Amino acid sequence: MGKKLTARKEDYSKWYNELVVNADLAENSAVRGCMVIKPYGYAIWEKMQAELDRMFKESGHQNAYFPLFVPKSLFEAEEKNAEGFAKECAVVTHYRLKTDPNDNSKLIVDPEAKLEEELIVRPTSEAIIWNTYKGWIQSYRDLPILINQWANVVRWEMRTRLFLRTAEFLWQEGHTAHATKAEAIGEAELMNNIYAEFVENFMAIPVIKGTKSENERFAGAVETYCIEALMQDGKALQAGTSHFLGQNFAKAFDVKFASKEGNLEHVWATSWGVSTRLVGALIMTHSDDNGLVLPPSLAPIQVVIVPIYKGDDQLAQISEVANDIASKLRAAGVSVKYDDRDTQKPGWKFAQYELQGVPVRLAIGPKDLEKGNVELARRDTLTKEVVSQEDVVGIVTGLMTTIQENLFSRAKNYRDEHISKVDSFDEFKEVLKTKGGFLSAHWDGTSETEKAIKDRTKATIRLIPIEGEKEAGQCVFSGKPSQQRVLFAKAY
Ligand code: AMP
Repeated sequence: MGKKLTARKEDYSKWYNELVVNADLAENSAVRGCMVIKPYGYAIWEKMQAELDRMFKESGHQNAYFPLFVPKSLFEAEEKNAEGFAKECAVVTHYRLKTDPNDNSKLIVDPEAKLEEELIVRPTSEAIIWNTYKGWIQSYRDLPILINQWANVVRWEMRTRLFLRTAEFLWQEGHTAHATKAEAIGEAELMNNIYAEFVENFMAIPVIKGTKSENERFAGAVETYCIEALMQDGKALQAGTSHFLGQNFAKAFDVKFASKEGNLEHVWATSWGVSTRLVGALIMTHSDDNGLVLPPSLAPIQVVIVPIYKGDDQLAQISEVANDIASKLRAAGVSVKYDDRDTQKPGWKFAQYELQGVPVRLAIGPKDLEKGNVELARRDTLTKEVVSQEDVVGIVTGLMTTIQENLFSRAKNYRDEHISKVDSFDEFKEVLKTKGGFLSAHWDGTSETEKAIKDRTKATIRLIPIEGEKEAGQCVFSGKPSQQRVLFAKAY
């Protein structure tokens, strides 16, 4: 059993790192900023992938795969995008190593194997994809193209954190091409809504939908839609983004189509992505000082059964009951692990499954055998009760929904309590310092003001809300007119 985690209120970021490692989700690797995702963490990511993939396909998208490398000349074609990502690019300059003439045991880069054109390891794939789309699109009949790719990307981040910000990360990136502006905007909004639905219903994380300010917009986008969540320490986390790219990439790669009316027009584009950062969001929304708390929809193991026994006879009797419950639960669609290993004590197993966030634990001991009972423990509430073996399957299947809903409403209550309306800059600073969370404030719409606020407080505009009423007012910083309140926060 791993040591106890640092308490969240003592040191939130230490708690986070210890949880990731002790719950066996991931660890740092020999490569700076890159992590090893361990089987348990990867199983959670696979569950996310499966559901997202289903949602993408249901909304008409198909998967495809494009190269890891982007020739520099393609990468620089869309200037804003290139400029935005230039500082974070890993670049391949050579294609061969050779034995070091001074030391036979070492390899050096072969200076004769210099690439004529450098290759960029993709930080995002618009360039390579739009260069490809050029060959696919001639007329309106070829549109729309609705493609998603599951891939890894590299952004040379200076300050990395497991899952939240890594130099290499796993994600999906959708890249779509459309005949009209309205259709492309509709697609960008649709995908942002799909992300919101997934994160809320499947991950039990409440999100707010909005658009980004110019400062925070994706490089090369006309508009960035996003969903933002609030973590337990009062910091916001960008959970997903969907970009309306206008005709920027079509112009950069000269992608035109013959319209129904016979005119030659540039194609309209979107791109959208979520990454392994979502695992970080999951941890920082639901988990506690005992470890990970998983919503049933994402739990690789939803129910664990632990036998408490002395001797083989007792184990055999308990196993009979446990296997019967397990097979009934499986038939009801619940994933169950019966942990009858004799290499670990029940107490060790309890702590381990608690640390790993298994939503329901059933324990069966000799007394339970006698009375026809099972002890049931909930991970979300840390409560225990004794239930009859007859009722346990019905109760546990019901709990799968109850726990999912409880986690969502708990997180939503916390989130809602941490959206504060502020009307002066003093109030802004005070609330940010004492309470954190989202600050709903008026803003004059300029990048200068946003930057001035960021320099003074580290808070940025997380989003300009899409939903809800829009009241005019005066900018919290400059006093100039404002069309609507926006949400500021410190962010991951
Ligand atoms: P972007 O292409 O910048 O809009 O990012 C797409 C998605 O990847 C967003 O949900 C980001 O929050 C996430 N993301 C961006 N950078 C990283 C990173 N270094 N590590 C993990 N996720 C990231």
